Amino acid sequence: MHYFQYKNDQLYAEDVSVALLVQEYGTPLYIYSASTLTRHYHAFESAFSDIKHLICYSVKANSNLSVLKILGQEGSGADIVSGGELFRALRAGIPAKKIVYSGVGKEVSEIQEALLADILLFNVESIQELERINTIAQDMDKVARVSLRINPDVDPKTHPYISTGLKENKFGLSRPEALKAYKLAQTLTHVDPIGMDCHIGSQLTSLEPFMEALGRLKEFYTELQGLGIPIQYLDLGGGLGITYNEEEPPHPKELGEAIGTSLQDLDVTLILEPGRVIAGNTGILVTEVQYLKENGEKNFVIVDAAMNDLVRPSLYGSYHRIAPVCQKNREEVVVDVVGPICESSDFLAKDRSLPRVAQGDLLAIFSAGAYGFTMSSQYNSRPRAAEVIVQGAHHILARKREVYNDLTVLEESGLTLVTEMSKD
Ligand SMILES: *Cc1c(COP(=O)(O)O)cnc(C)c1O
Repeated sequence: MHYFQYKNDQLYAEDVSVALLVQEYGTPLYIYSASTLTRHYHAFESAFSDIKHLICYSVKANSNLSVLKILGQEGSGADIVSGGELFRALRAGIPAKKIVYSGVGKEVSEIQEALLADILLFNVESIQELERINTIAQDMDKVARVSLRINPDVDPKTHPYISTGLKENKFGLSRPEALKAYKLAQTLTHVDPIGMDCHIGSQLTSLEPFMEALGRLKEFYTELQGLGIPIQYLDLGGGLGITYNEEEPPHPKELGEAIGTSLQDLDVTLILEPGRVIAGNTGILVTEVQYLKENGEKNFVIVDAAMNDLVRPSLYGSYHRIAPVCQKNREEVVVDVVGPICESSDFLAKDRSLPRVAQGDLLAIFSAGAYGFTMSSQYNSRPRAAEVIVQGAHHILARKREVYNDLTVLEESGLTLVTEMSKD
């Protein structure tokens, strides 16, 4: 459920007309609905109210400071995957005690920063990482709380680029390796192995993979208890899918009930790291039609948003619903919606039946709140889009539109160097 609805044939973000927002902020424009965001957060959070739990929103889905701040105020923690995301989460006021840190390639400086902040847990993905964290913690006279990320070898039945819990994926440790790592952790003085973690993939549309992964974690939990390693935190990662087109993912409630039943006999705090399910349908990307052209075989709608703004269609072949901001009665035509970038993979929709549009019309690309802006780039030297947050009748600019100077500002010092070199 989201708050992007048509009123008198005009698309609204909550109580604000999208056309009005475009007048004020231009296109391409990301629009987020704060009420949708908090609604999704609470729908998810309350699904686990029967068990001890902590929701750590996955920052990489949408890391805008205002988005993080809103979620933090609602009580969310954060799942981070870099020092930059730690910086954002802390800036947004999310307490370090609610931050967990995932990712296969944590650098020394990033580990130091996280220890300094005193985050809740490191989700450790290799034996070398465990040793590195121990050494750094020792140098800093701290003890790092750690979970080991288990790769449960479960097929999440999603796009191969976003499945992470298969043996062939780079993530986590196989069970034998994880066992070695826990035994090693017991002997290390500056790590405290109190958690167990997994994350099997993204955009999951059934409960089975979650329950299969949880089953494997529970077996392992029992084995560790036997070894005198008491696990206090069980982190099941993120991954619950959303409806882009016709998918019917389970409601968080169903996930909560299934997990709750399965964890009845365990005295652990459950951690969840939802990203897409919180932020995905919280945002739209609005774009203006620039040109129409036909080549006999295809009808192209060329818009001012491109793969640099929203890469999911190009990267994964993902489907995003697209609809005109102004809904008039028009005949449907089959079109490709494409951007201005010089790549044939620069498309937002292929062979899509859309109401016939005209130059200057606005199109809304739905479900763009997760892995939209965060995956954007400046490719083709296109300044990044602006981001706006709406709540009720209010709207604020959550991130300014980039300008040409933002494209070159970090290169200016190099420019003077080149000028000086060419003098010699
Ligand atoms: C990306 C990621 C998530 C969030 O995944 P969603 O599918 O957006 O819920 C959670 N945990 C980890 C470790 C991740 O890499």
